[in-house]
Amino acid sequence: MTSAAKHVDEARLWGRHMDMAAIGARTDGGVNRQALSAEDARARALLVEWARSLGFDVASDPIGNLFVRREGTERGATPVLTGSHLDSQPTGGKFDGAYGVLAGFEALEALQLGGIVTRRPIELVAWCNEEGSRFAPGAMGSAAFAHALPLETALAIKDREDKTVGAALAEMPTLPPRPLGFPVHAYVEAHIEQGPVLEREAKTIGAVTGIQGSQWFTVEVRGAEAHAGTAPLRTRQDALKAAVAMIAALETWMADETDRVRFTVGRLDVSPNSPNTVPGRVVFTIDFRHPDGAVLVRLGDGIERICHENARGCAVTVTKNFDAPPCAFDPRIIDTIEQSAAILGLSRMRLPSGAFHDAKHMVDLCPTGMIFVPCEKGISHNPVENAKPSDLAAGARVLATVLEELAR
Ligand SMILES: [Zn+2]
Repeated sequence: MTSAAKHVDEARLWGRHMDMAAIGARTDGGVNRQALSAEDARARALLVEWARSLGFDVASDPIGNLFVRREGTERGATPVLTGSHLDSQPTGGKFDGAYGVLAGFEALEALQLGGIVTRRPIELVAWCNEEGSRFAPGAMGSAAFAHALPLETALAIKDREDKTVGAALAEMPTLPPRPLGFPVHAYVEAHIEQGPVLEREAKTIGAVTGIQGSQWFTVEVRGAEAHAGTAPLRTRQDALKAAVAMIAALETWMADETDRVRFTVGRLDVSPNSPNTVPGRVVFTIDFRHPDGAVLVRLGDGIERICHENARGCAVTVTKNFDAPPCAFDPRIIDTIEQSAAILGLSRMRLPSGAFHDAKHMVDLCPTGMIFVPCEKGISHNPVENAKPSDLAAGARVLATVLEELAR
């Protein structure tokens, strides 16, 4: 085992997860710790308390990303950064996000306990508002840090109670300031997989190759309302039956033997939504994703045509709301993760990420990578989200080894 990995402590890491999960704990075992809430403030305060007890400096940037810094020996050397997020979905679990922060903190503590000196500083970041459930969009802190989202725009975003991000930020613990977008040598994020692949393949460590691309659409189908008892079928412009035909045709269009396409129609609004009236208007959403940029474009470009071909006399408007190409992580970081897992004798594989992560924004700033560990049945964004203490510790050992290597 490398020097830092030796000092990773499974029980301590698990205990910190339970301490963190107590903040915003739900009665069903899950966690509700939404961004910039009172619970988020307590989570931040706890991390600050732990950091200061080990003598680390803490700071926060203007969008509320929280940094914990372990110094290196070379003055002015750019830091190696690791971290994830402490906020959760309203019906979230104990590990999504929190794991990346706590594994990063465990790595810092392990380096400290081992008396390991690195040339570069190593910093831990808890990104602000990754989940986006209270303030949309998600990954707000990392986007603002990477200048992909203007700070002023982010600060003005409101929640459902009309409270702005700026006002909510003022209720977080006050810390010494740090600028947005400071130079970073490399970024490595640990996370539970949030999918079933590692568990199914019986691998402990995932060296993540990148984040799959996404396209999101809204489809509006406009027909004509009519009396269910009197309007003959042949004369109807039934928006719901047209929408059903479109969705069925899209399902066929998205068929994929390799099972890599992710195609979801998650919302269907029918109006007037009355049992006795032919639906006059339907709006449905499409979320589809693929790790291959060319396939993403080819399939996405067919959506509007297929909707029109199945309109059954209705008018259709297809609006693309979101188009994010896949991003690829740095080959050297992927290699370093695999090699570190090999040194530690851990089973490992490469895989793409199906979900978004803050790492997506860091790709534009520095060499970036992610480490996945298995979660039970791949379930996430759910109170029953679970992971094994031994897997969490294994991921933290790999992370500690990678950070030590990158900061050498
Ligand atoms: Zn997450």
